[in-house]
Amino acid sequence: HRQADVPNSLVDALASRVRGRIVRPGEADYEPVRQLWNGMIDRRPALVVRCAGDEDVVAAVDFARDNELLVAVRGGGHGVAGQAVCDGGLVIDLSEMRGVDVDPERRRAVAQGGCTLGDIDRATQRHGLAAPLGVVTETGVAGLTLSGGMGWLRRKHGLSCDNLLSVRVVTADGRLLVADESQHQDLFWAVRGGGGNFGVVTSFEYRLHPLGPEVFLCFVLYPADRTREVLRACEHYLSRHPDGFAPIGVLGKVPAVEPFPPEAHGKDFTALLAPYPGDPVEGERLLRPLREIADPILDLSGPMPYTEVQAILDEDYPDGLHYYWKSVNVPELGDELIERLAERAASAPSPRSTIDVWYQGGAMARVGEEETAFANRGAPYLLGIEANWEAEADSAENMTWVRGTFADLSSFSTGGVYLNFPGFLEEGEQLLREGYGTNYERLSTVKAKYDPANLFHLNANIKPKS
Ligand code: FAD
Repeated sequence: HRQADVPNSLVDALASRVRGRIVRPGEADYEPVRQLWNGMIDRRPALVVRCAGDEDVVAAVDFARDNELLVAVRGGGHGVAGQAVCDGGLVIDLSEMRGVDVDPERRRAVAQGGCTLGDIDRATQRHGLAAPLGVVTETGVAGLTLSGGMGWLRRKHGLSCDNLLSVRVVTADGRLLVADESQHQDLFWAVRGGGGNFGVVTSFEYRLHPLGPEVFLCFVLYPADRTREVLRACEHYLSRHPDGFAPIGVLGKVPAVEPFPPEAHGKDFTALLAPYPGDPVEGERLLRPLREIADPILDLSGPMPYTEVQAILDEDYPDGLHYYWKSVNVPELGDELIERLAERAASAPSPRSTIDVWYQGGAMARVGEEETAFANRGAPYLLGIEANWEAEADSAENMTWVRGTFADLSSFSTGGVYLNFPGFLEEGEQLLREGYGTNYERLSTVKAKYDPANLFHLNANIKPKS
């Protein structure tokens, strides 16, 4: 696929077909439009089509295919690997397609492909409903949902992709298809975990669940020397209350800001964090033991609107910093692993970095391994390794920390990684095998049917079966 500049005459022909704007190098909007959340990424596309609707997406796909251009697809621009923008070639940018239609009676919402999580939460919470999404409001629903989607509701209602009822997809041949349980079932299966491999998804229809507007948030930080007790207590709690509470254990360093006590600034902590996905008064009562495991550094727990809970981590992930994340599933949290987690977290070069323990199971594990393309559902824990840092000069050191930590923690794994925390996809085939698991072969068959020439390959790419 060509990365070269595109002649003006061709661009004029495309412009006459699209309702949205086309942005090229040198134009006023070009710089902001090519920037992604991850400041590590600096790519210069030849052409960005800022789509205004499904027909624009069809026009852009036809244009890219007919002119053999390299294609990147941008939803919320928060992909950690930064593949939503390419060098040369064409970006199909959905970030201005952010409409959400809620049907409160049938408990469904249709969200356009450029929506952020916050767009959906705002629209659905007006009706006391929520779609299971992720934990930072500025993340795009497209990338998140296509590779799974893990948030506070994963143990009660499953992954984002488990709550999909239908999608509209523009495939490589320029057709606009509706895929659901009765039409293009193979495509519907594949987009629930198979990433952006199968076409450009212009809208997602989600099943909604009653929640909020107020929930009880558990958010308590303990000193890192209590890590073992904290992670164990949480595990014990979950075995006794299979009610869908879905915590994340976070190992990090106390930021030197209010409201953290000055004597704790810079010290290592282990936090437990999650809203109770039901009645806030009951949540307060049921979660109390998790707030009394030891003397906390700070307990920020309390009742609050669900939309506020969804935004509670937003400020930790500003646009334009440097980010490099990996993940690995583990079957158990043994003493040796817990010790290693604490050591590794303490040795992170950047105080913004964390290791996160995602307690999985519950509803996400009750969906069959081959029911959707999302693999490794049975793993009880996902370890997320996040390096987040400011200065470009510190990149090598931070990436080395992630790679070393990943190698170390992988020795406790029996397989499986999460493709939404993919580093820069540098492990190639090995990463795909780990990420797509036993669904890899079938994905490659579906890929051959809907994208035989691999037009959509800037992603965790599945080669079409030959
Ligand atoms: P983009 O960069 O726009 O897209 C990522 C990739 O998805 C693209 O390269 C493309 O291949 C594909 N793609 C995007 N849009 C489309 C489309 N419309 N049709 C077809 N393919 C498309 N994940 C979780 O599961 N849970 C979390 O709580 C969570 N928290 C996060 C917090 C932050 C701050 C960040 C940055 C990421 C988080 N993630 C989480 C990971 C997140 O799911 C991925 O980064 C995801 O790729 C973001 O999607 P996006 O649309 O914003 O990204």
